[in-house]
Amino acid sequence: MSITPRDLSRLQDAPRHPAKPRHKTREVCVGNRVIGGDNPVLVQSMTTTDTFDVEATVAQIKRLEEVECELVRVTVPKPEDAAVLSKIRSRIGIPLICDIHFDYKMALMALDHPVDKIRINPGNIGGYDRFRQVIRKAKERGLPMRIGVNAGSLERELVEKYGFPCPPAMVESAIRYIEIAESEGYHDMIVSLKSSDVPTAVEAYRLFAQMCDYPTHIGITEAGKPPYAVTKSAAGLAPILLDGIGDTIRISLLGDPVPEIAAAFDILQATQRRVRKPELIACPTCGRLAIDLEKIIADLEKRLEGRRTAVKVSVLGCVVNGPGEAREADIGIAAGNGKGVIFRNGDIVRHVLEAEMVDALIEEIDHWESDQEKAGKSTKETPAPGRKRLPVVV
Ligand code: SF4
Repeated sequence: MSITPRDLSRLQDAPRHPAKPRHKTREVCVGNRVIGGDNPVLVQSMTTTDTFDVEATVAQIKRLEEVECELVRVTVPKPEDAAVLSKIRSRIGIPLICDIHFDYKMALMALDHPVDKIRINPGNIGGYDRFRQVIRKAKERGLPMRIGVNAGSLERELVEKYGFPCPPAMVESAIRYIEIAESEGYHDMIVSLKSSDVPTAVEAYRLFAQMCDYPTHIGITEAGKPPYAVTKSAAGLAPILLDGIGDTIRISLLGDPVPEIAAAFDILQATQRRVRKPELIACPTCGRLAIDLEKIIADLEKRLEGRRTAVKVSVLGCVVNGPGEAREADIGIAAGNGKGVIFRNGDIVRHVLEAEMVDALIEEIDHWESDQEKAGKSTKETPAPGRKRLPVVV
């Protein structure tokens, strides 16, 4: 049977390093952090306590801080919640965001306290005039605001105009409120366009990024219970992040918020938007396996816990893909019959027995780190989409 050969010439022009540059957004200060621009995509979470219960709320925020949450949001539905914002703020080390729904008076009240940012859902705040009052007060206080559009609470007329809560309806809603704020001379805005429907959220963020340069808070709302919720969040956030969109991220998980932080950092790591730990490449194993790979990876993970080196380490279980992957990684092992060959930057550096592999890999990572430092490549580099090697980012 004859075949028509495909035209391969277009491959010459195809991007070799496919990461897209970060979408250019303006910078907005939130306490001592900056969202947007070239700043790292910040990881945030939200407490699940009654905010007025200061001890419980601070204790939960401290647990979030321990896992390196960078911004935290608390709900403020009642005056007694607003009344304790100052106490909470004085006992935590990360910027505090107050979350307001329905009652614009609660927004005005919360803004009397030393918070670092306010989040409102314009679709349920009670109309444009009330929104304007909140904007004026935020401007007077010099505080930023998240305009949190949600597909579940869009203005009725927009739902009627577009037929259902779809991406253009969400973006039009956001732009309406942005323009009201701009008419008040207020620009310290961060925007979210959340939906529990992954395709809707992805398209809403893409559409918004084509029209605005305000930084975005990204997330898949009401993702549900882990582990599916983490997978669903990754499915939705990966296309957004790979398009270069997103300046702060929250993974919404049912239950304790602490696991949200590791999930967010893992999604940022996998999309190479914020690489802050070693990337371990390991094969799934199969009948060709020549070493105890599960044990080696478990030991390696334990030994690398807390390490902030953005090094790419590959450990493959046999000679099928081992040498190829090992050459592409910063450090790699190609294993075979209880021993292995270690590669560093593509060159063979030593042969080791299976029992020595973990120690040898750690030694090689130490060498790699000091070589990087000697070459002036600190672990504090700015993200560089398109680099062959992983970008090194805090
Ligand atoms: S690298 Fe080897 S052991 Fe691992 S999955 Fe592939 S063929 Fe199997």
